Amino acid sequence: MSEQAPQSRVAGASVETLLEALPYIREFHGRTVVIKYGGAAMLDEELRDAFATDVVLLKYVGLNPIVVHGGGPEITRYMERLGLEVKFHEGLRVSDAETVEVAKMVLVGKLNSEIVQRLNRHGQPAVGLAGEDGTLFEVAPVANADKVGFVGSVERVDVDVLNHIAADYIPVIASSASDREGQTYNVNADEAAGKVAAALGAHKAIFLTDVEGWLADADQEASLISRASVAEVEAQLAGVAGGMRPKLAACVEAIRGGAQSAHIIDGRKPHSLLLELFTDAGIGTMVTP
Ligand code: ADP
Ligand code: MG
Repeated sequence: MSEQAPQSRVAGASVETLLEALPYIREFHGRTVVIKYGGAAMLDEELRDAFATDVVLLKYVGLNPIVVHGGGPEITRYMERLGLEVKFHEGLRVSDAETVEVAKMVLVGKLNSEIVQRLNRHGQPAVGLAGEDGTLFEVAPVANADKVGFVGSVERVDVDVLNHIAADYIPVIASSASDREGQTYNVNADEAAGKVAAALGAHKAIFLTDVEGWLADADQEASLISRASVAEVEAQLAGVAGGMRPKLAACVEAIRGGAQSAHIIDGRKPHSLLLELFTDAGIGTMVTP
């Protein structure tokens, strides 16, 4: 091989990357991709910017990105500042009346607005909404409400409001919702994203998290399960702990709703979203029908 000047090597690499992306851009044009944003990617300034850049780019190249976010660590931080006890049960936040109030304030008042602002700044206007807006979510208490309190399960998604907004803007959904009586519930953001993906008949659902993906052994990053079918996930779901369980359940939900694949990817790596969508590199866990 002859020596190349550094600049032309770089140029060659960029052209290849663009060419690699082309078939994906063609495949995804006009398609809906639901993105669950949470975990590590929400905490770090550089990662927040990288995420916004990625989502805006998706909109520019003709995809229909729908963002659903949680706010786990930030809600915990505010609860601690207010002296409230933080507890989880099987991956769900144990939520008394004060907890849901704080969670809603943080999710809707702070995080949702910050994500919208950032997308706006990066060049694509976004619109924030919570479960009440346009009657997006109808929720009911989860089955184990006696253990977790005001945690709601999404019973119905009214996609009308999303379709209206997504025609011109990037919808950014906070995972908070109320029942008909006006009681607010915490909704696990993975569940919300899975239900939204299913209701929209999304092409893909992508879950950003703070590990590489679904691990066979939660303590061993090297035990990444890079691919699993819905049947395989369902067979193992009961044995999966913590926040990974609702994520996998949401992958199953999205695929049942017609998604071609659902992905759990590492939100600690900048631009993991673009890598997943537009390169041949398989990253994280891919769940298939
Ligand atoms: P988020 O929903 O913000 O992405 P969660 O904390 O709710 O984050 O879910 C991810 C967490 O799930 C991981 O950080 C890990 O601690 C936990 N977890 C439990 N079991 C597994 C598993 N088998 N594989 C990967 N992560 C797991
Ligand atoms: Mg979670």
